[in-house]
Amino acid sequence: MKILVLNAGSSSQKSCLYEIGEFLPDSPIPPIWEGSIDWGTTQAKITIKVSGHIKTALLPSSNRFHALKNLILTVIQGEHSVVESLKEINRVGHRVVHGGRRYQQATLITPEVEAEIERLIPLAPNHNPCHLEGIAAIRQILEDVPQIAVFDTAFHAQIPQSIAAYPIPYKWYEQGIRRYGFHGISHQYCAKRAAHLLGCELDKLKIITCHLGNGASLAAIRNGISINTTMGFTPLEGLMMGTRCGSIDPSILIYLLKNQGLSTDELNHILNRESGLKGIFGKSGDMRDVLASWTAGDEQAVLALDMYIERLKSAIGAMTATLGGVDCLVFTAGIGENSAVVRQLTCNGLGFLGISVDHNLNEGVSSDIDIATPDSRVRIFVIHTQEDWEIAAECWWLTLHHGNSYN
Ligand code: ADP
Repeated sequence: MKILVLNAGSSSQKSCLYEIGEFLPDSPIPPIWEGSIDWGTTQAKITIKVSGHIKTALLPSSNRFHALKNLILTVIQGEHSVVESLKEINRVGHRVVHGGRRYQQATLITPEVEAEIERLIPLAPNHNPCHLEGIAAIRQILEDVPQIAVFDTAFHAQIPQSIAAYPIPYKWYEQGIRRYGFHGISHQYCAKRAAHLLGCELDKLKIITCHLGNGASLAAIRNGISINTTMGFTPLEGLMMGTRCGSIDPSILIYLLKNQGLSTDELNHILNRESGLKGIFGKSGDMRDVLASWTAGDEQAVLALDMYIERLKSAIGAMTATLGGVDCLVFTAGIGENSAVVRQLTCNGLGFLGISVDHNLNEGVSSDIDIATPDSRVRIFVIHTQEDWEIAAECWWLTLHHGNSYN
């Protein structure tokens, strides 16, 4: 089965084509084709990667459909084509950031599903419109190929109400103001991968996954189910992030609105784009820049990193309390996979939980290995997150359960 995966964001469109046989492999397989579009203000940069060969092209970014169509046509055209006809593509899987309360698993896209994704735009204004654009474009390019939505919120759908509800008037909860959680596809993949690497059944483990990218969140996973996570109603809650503040006293917002004359748009921009590491360090929200200045002893970089680690450790403590213990801690995404310093500083403070990292393994890490000392009560994994593979695998499972009734 050939499955095209689309992962659309406001500034980029990533895409992969997987070929999965009769059985789903235990470990991810590489895509047969990868493509991406970086949306510049005037030009869209298209990049394709096939068997190690990389090719780029520039197109006007004003016509997004045209750029996406050109990207997808490279699977059948040119020296790096991988299939003979677009009809060979059996399914298209879309990462959809917000599925609200209704969607708790991967779902075949129907007009009702599209309407719900549209209804949820106010909760995911930077993402859900891009997903709808991608779904409509695929309908034109690939006509009646079944399209499947894989929701970032779905993995957290079983979080108990006592954690999902905010202590505000209950009628707001009924109106949908509740914790949804995000990065679910990554948390789900990493939990499954950790269980596989441990050679254990997922449903016997208590796992904390730390997705530390520009956005960052933790998930507490018991028996393969997310029962707590740090992000909430929106991806702004929880950990300190690259440019997002994470959890702060809500009265700060009221104070700023009342006393400093900030508009809601300005406040939204500052809390999402000018806060977090960037807000404290000042020069950038990129962890690599913070770490370079931290090494040179820059005071703001030291403060930013101290705050980042402190909040991360507190959240790991909170997730451990929800789980009633922890068997396995996973670091993933840009910072989690690449920064030995962040992993070491985080684990240093958590010896009381039985977390002990092997310094040498941590420093020389390649992904998907256990970096805990032999006597650590908690296994510590660095796992390269593979959201696109997880989306393809979800599409494969959904098709298996529904047979070919979508054709
Ligand atoms: P996104 O959330 O946008 O998908 P990524 O998962 O790619 O982001 O993570 C981006 C973050 O990873 C950035 O803050 C970047 O600084 C950080 N990062 C990437 N490589 C390293 C590294 N070698 N050391 C520390 N941080 C890194």
